[in-house]
Amino acid sequence: MSYFKKMDNFLIARTNKYNVFRCLVRQGPINRAAIARLTNLSIPTVMTITAELLEKKVIRSIGKGESSGGKPPEMLELVPDSYYTVGVDIGRTMIRLVANNAAFEQRASLQELTGNPLPAKDFVKRVSGLILRIIHMLHTEKEKIIGIGIAMPGLIEKETGRVIFSPDFEWSSVPLREWLLENLPFTLLVENANRALALNESYFEGEEDQNHTTFSVNLGHGIGAGLVLGEELYMGAVGASGEIGHITVERNGPLCMCGNRGCLEAVASGDAIAKKAKSLMEKGRAPILAELCGGKGHEIEARTVFEAAAAGDPEAGKIVDEAAEYIGMGLSMAINVLDPDRLILCGGLMRNGPSFFEKIKASIQKHKMKQTGRELVIFQGTKGENSTAMGACRLLVNTLWNEQRLPI
Ligand SMILES: [Zn+2]
Repeated sequence: MSYFKKMDNFLIARTNKYNVFRCLVRQGPINRAAIARLTNLSIPTVMTITAELLEKKVIRSIGKGESSGGKPPEMLELVPDSYYTVGVDIGRTMIRLVANNAAFEQRASLQELTGNPLPAKDFVKRVSGLILRIIHMLHTEKEKIIGIGIAMPGLIEKETGRVIFSPDFEWSSVPLREWLLENLPFTLLVENANRALALNESYFEGEEDQNHTTFSVNLGHGIGAGLVLGEELYMGAVGASGEIGHITVERNGPLCMCGNRGCLEAVASGDAIAKKAKSLMEKGRAPILAELCGGKGHEIEARTVFEAAAAGDPEAGKIVDEAAEYIGMGLSMAINVLDPDRLILCGGLMRNGPSFFEKIKASIQKHKMKQTGRELVIFQGTKGENSTAMGACRLLVNTLWNEQRLPI
């Protein structure tokens, strides 16, 4: 098993401690000799680090294990409830919260419909209330909550947690982190929802090789993505990486929320699919679709268009095929530029049957440079509805570690 290999001279001691801790999280219960073998550290180094972790009560001894000839070794494991994190996914339709322990086991969850738009400050107050409610559900002392990760659609200023622009909520320059801190005396991190999702989707329990380059794309109302290198999210210079929804795929195409024309999101997102279908129906050109929504254009969602296509509506079918073609084009650009070995497709559009996934894959094969992506594996996200909130927790833990603030 290869653990973190970034052995910067100034970071060796810290990296060693992290590797031992991660080994305990992933492989525990485990003895010291096995930790030394898996992490390539000496037994005395492992002994020093485990003594420190035992003293801090983040790991514990659970007695003797099986002997392989000599003295039976002492077995160590993580104390799962030594600390907790809260993850919040603020979505256009639903607000989802999870509370995890140190082993990333979910200890509580909560969800509520986002509902009709409120003034930003009132909405933020409502989110604060939900966070306090899930913390209460944990029945633990406040000191054990090491922080709260917030996943929010839109462009986020990473240093301040300010939402620069969120078309989903029609927010510009909303000091989300600052307002939440008024009611929540915790470490608080705000991140783009697509990237939080990408981080969680790229993580697989017990996986031995942690050196993957994963590009994870969220195909929903909008389109966004995240690049994960190993277990670390790639942030970019100002924290705006992954905006694949706003690459131009159609010159002079439809106007996008971002102000440009012909963005991938403006031609192939869930909203774009619904908008195109509505316009066709109004021209009397999608009879099955019209029947499915009772002739009410405002009730058309992407899901309705997929249903109409499956029921044989040719115009709805064309819209779906065109969206898959454009998504494949966009993703092939990412593959050519980034050379990932894993491409994960997530989000609401992927819940419309297997043929959409197959069509996207066919489009990728058609558009990507033939020599790229030889190692690429393409699959659908599997982590369920709380994945973005879980990703917000993971990102928080990674950030606290990088800032040496994780209590280990
Ligand atoms: Zn755009």
